[in-house]
Amino acid sequence: MRIVLFGPPGVGKSTQADLIAQNMHFKRFSMGDTLRDEVASKSELGTKIKRYVESGELVPDDIVFELVKKFVCENQKTDILFEGYPRTVRQAEALDALLSQLGLSMDVVLEIHLSDDEVFRRLTNRGYCPNCSSIYNYDTHPPKVDSICDNCGQKLVTRSDDSEEVIRRRLQLYAEQTKKLANHYNAPLVYQRIRAEGTKQEVFDKIAHIIHAYSNKR
Ligand SMILES: [Zn+2]
Repeated sequence: MRIVLFGPPGVGKSTQADLIAQNMHFKRFSMGDTLRDEVASKSELGTKIKRYVESGELVPDDIVFELVKKFVCENQKTDILFEGYPRTVRQAEALDALLSQLGLSMDVVLEIHLSDDEVFRRLTNRGYCPNCSSIYNYDTHPPKVDSICDNCGQKLVTRSDDSEEVIRRRLQLYAEQTKKLANHYNAPLVYQRIRAEGTKQEVFDKIAHIIHAYSNKR
């Protein structure tokens, strides 16, 4: 079974991806982690990626796809959860083609939804540790001591990209991309939208329910 999980920044995607991977035996493909691992491995590809990341450019689609392809081919017999990929219709088409070559399919596409106002409130309430990169949310995941990192004791800062204008622009871009992806995956049973309200356990229960319902229909 293959699942895509997407949602706006600040919605708790990676928390949910962790829960799905741990509780439901999915192998998680996280674009961010995969890029970081490849850079750390100092491979030829990793060196190329590092150049893009350091210059603040987007890593081109063909490089990203190499990583996806490698992961999918190595995990053909495992349930896979894609997080942070695909982001565009072009990427979704490339992934569809790869899966179909391997006799596989994309089974469930889960959009975690939250109103723009709520996303905005969550994002502006974030604290970031400049030392160990931990991220806190003053509403849903506050540090134990106010403004101090639980992990290393550093004083938390607001991420520089969390200014109001930048957030509004990111949300708008996300909404445009999501609309196109939703159209691309628009098939009964495949595309599922859930609201990210309640605790992380409540959100996870909704996701688990959808995944189980799909498994039972096969
Ligand atoms: Zn820290």
